[in-house]
Amino acid sequence: MAFSISTYHQIRNELHGKQVTLVAVSKTKPVTDLLEAYHAGIRDFGENYVQELCGKQQQLPEDIQWHYIGHLQSNKVKFIAPFVHLIHGVDSEKLLLEIQKQGKKNQLVIDCLLQVHIAEESTKFGFDEAAIKIVAQTYGIEQPLSHVRLRGLMGMASFTDDAQKIKREFNGLKTIFDTIRSRQPDNNCFDTLSMGMSSDYPLAIECGSTLIRVGSLLFGERI
Ligand SMILES: *Cc1c(COP(=O)(O)O)cnc(C)c1O
Repeated sequence: MAFSISTYHQIRNELHGKQVTLVAVSKTKPVTDLLEAYHAGIRDFGENYVQELCGKQQQLPEDIQWHYIGHLQSNKVKFIAPFVHLIHGVDSEKLLLEIQKQGKKNQLVIDCLLQVHIAEESTKFGFDEAAIKIVAQTYGIEQPLSHVRLRGLMGMASFTDDAQKIKREFNGLKTIFDTIRSRQPDNNCFDTLSMGMSSDYPLAIECGSTLIRVGSLLFGERI
């Protein structure tokens, strides 16, 4: 049994009474593992390879909400647009406009999160603070996109044991989130702050996360 139901129940208990969604990150894991999680009650799954996601989506129950959590190439949006529940890692205007185009083609409004570069490391994708405010102002307020709904922000903290540093990064993201949220019209539903993974989700929740993306704790280490 690769899926740990006891860990799932433990996390569910920690989330009890909080407005925090758990997304089970199942990338690289076989469909049988996802089915175990599904039968335990999980309906939100996160993947970050387009081909793998499309394959799993075809084999698994239709009521699963699929989250695309990684870096997404513009030319691959068309494959996931018909069914994706939330795209977390929107890190360029080019990608945002391609999602708009594919949303229109599929007659859907696609929910998206803008990815903010919060880690002090330089390798992670995303907008910086100044750019994210401009993008949210432009596409949330001035020229809202007809087939994209900006639902919030996503970020990844530095990969470090330094809890203070992680907290600083999460608090920074929460501040940006609150600022942008306060400027958006109420009907924009800018309500989602996706931050926290296996190693740092308790800190993320402390700092105001509304959605955590947990993989290895639930499914075991990836190879
Ligand atoms: C893989 C991945 C996760 C899950 O990581 P774990 O450490 O296994 O919980 C979360 N978010 C993103 C963007 C990922 O790529």
